[in-house]
Amino acid sequence: MSDDNVTPLRPSRPCAICGKKTQPAFHPFCSKHCADVDLNRWLKGAYVIPAAEEQDDWSEDTGAQTGGQGDET
Ligand SMILES: [Zn+2]
Repeated sequence: MSDDNVTPLRPSRPCAICGKKTQPAFHPFCSKHCADVDLNRWLKGAYVIPAAEEQDDWSEDTGAQTGGQGDET
C-alpha cells in the first residue's frame, strides 16, 4: 500500500562480479562468493601492480559487463 513511502538507501546496482542482483548482507555483491572474488582480485592486484594507473580501468570494466542498466525509469 505505502510503497511510495519506502526510500531505498541507494539505487540497486548489479553485482560488480557477475551482474546479479546484490544482497544487503553481501553488498555490493550478490553473494559471499563474489565478495571473495573481488577481494582476491584486489589483493592480487595490490601485489602484482605496485602503482599502476590502469586500476581505474578495470573498475569501470567490471561494472559494465552485463549492460542491464536500462531497467530503471
Ligand atoms: Zn555476484
